[in-house]
Amino acid sequence: MALTGLEIFKLLPKTNCKKCGMPTCLAFAMQLAQKRAKLDSCPDVSEEAKNTLAAAAAPPMRKVVFGSGDHQVQIGQETVMFRHEEKFYSPTVLAATISDKLTGPDLQNRIKAINALRFERVGVRIGAGAIAVINDSGQADAFAAAAETAAQSSPFALILVSDSPQAMAAAVAKTAKFVPLIANATNDNAQEMAKIAKENKCPIVAKADSLESLCGLTEKIKSLGIEDIVLNLQTETLRDKLYNLSRMRVLSLKKVFRPLGYPTISFVAGDADQQAAAAVGLACKYSGVVALDTVEQYVFLPIATAVMNIFTDPQKPVQVEPKIYTVGEPDENSPVLFTTNFSLTYYTVESDVEASRVPSYILVVDTEGTSVLTAYSGDKLNEKIVADAMTKCNVQDLVKHRKLIIPGYVAVMSGKLEEATNWEVMVGPRESSMLPKYLKEVWK
Ligand code: SF4
Repeated sequence: MALTGLEIFKLLPKTNCKKCGMPTCLAFAMQLAQKRAKLDSCPDVSEEAKNTLAAAAAPPMRKVVFGSGDHQVQIGQETVMFRHEEKFYSPTVLAATISDKLTGPDLQNRIKAINALRFERVGVRIGAGAIAVINDSGQADAFAAAAETAAQSSPFALILVSDSPQAMAAAVAKTAKFVPLIANATNDNAQEMAKIAKENKCPIVAKADSLESLCGLTEKIKSLGIEDIVLNLQTETLRDKLYNLSRMRVLSLKKVFRPLGYPTISFVAGDADQQAAAAVGLACKYSGVVALDTVEQYVFLPIATAVMNIFTDPQKPVQVEPKIYTVGEPDENSPVLFTTNFSLTYYTVESDVEASRVPSYILVVDTEGTSVLTAYSGDKLNEKIVADAMTKCNVQDLVKHRKLIIPGYVAVMSGKLEEATNWEVMVGPRESSMLPKYLKEVWK
């Protein structure tokens, strides 16, 4: 929890030496509390004070990163209970499990099915982000071989799941460069698992069956030199799990209770339908990773869609890139329409243009992700902005006619737009759903 200016003042030397550029230690403390100064500016501050201030400034929930390269994932770093309070930072990572009992083509087929769990929704790639190799065989060799194959054949971040330090050491030896998440350290194996994690610079999962044991375990792991910890609370029922994950979130964020200030991981079981329902609940409350024992696309798509919606930044509309989009194979006689870069608006227009079967160009104008009427009323959509977008996208080179179809809701801008562009403005329908009829009957 952030310290007040007076609390910080108590930790300073109180000599008022002015070396920090402030007239007094109190003035410096006030600047520090408002994050307008850096502690380094005071050369005389004690190590103890530095440690206290650093600990107080640390976020209530630690950010944990695993995986490598483009497929690195991040969990944790959350600061609020509910999205509308500010925003959520780290979308739940969906993982699919793979048993180390699989070998040969069976193993490859499962990995292939996991790799295919990606979808495009309103221009954003969603779906699985991790692959969790489970040490079902109990054998170190089999676990290491499956982990190595998964790491090399899948672009996703790797999670290694075994309670055996021997098996984990063998698997990490083959996959350390992929920075796997090591699961699980328990009260029985924490020492050995922490050693593997520390030597290979990998984050580790702490697994326990009560909050009390989990707190003791995270403190123990931390004392062994590991900072990046993920919590795995074992419960009998989904109800208990959701209840306790919510308690953990309150304790970490509201009470700044450090032993629980880490992201969480959950493994779901049951038939595919049960897993889908459980995974959505866990993404809502408040699992950083959800690992599913299925590779069914019909299960992953709705969960990934729910995750996308839950973690959308409420202060930032979902946007598409402002540019020229083509529908079908338009030529120099095809219509040119414009719309805004609010995703929902663009994809509605695009699907209606597609339904018309008239090959077309859609010019997407940057309105900071707002819809047509909102953009117009906020002066983010006017004749100059549209004219500039047309020039930037070289629309004049795409077609030989000079006709631009504009949304019916902004018919009022047609006169000024004609003056700004020298193009004939055709007022399209107000509702995008009327575009197929319009393109077939009016344009032609
Ligand atoms: S440099 Fe340190 S001791 Fe000196 S006035 Fe600033 S805060 Fe106080």
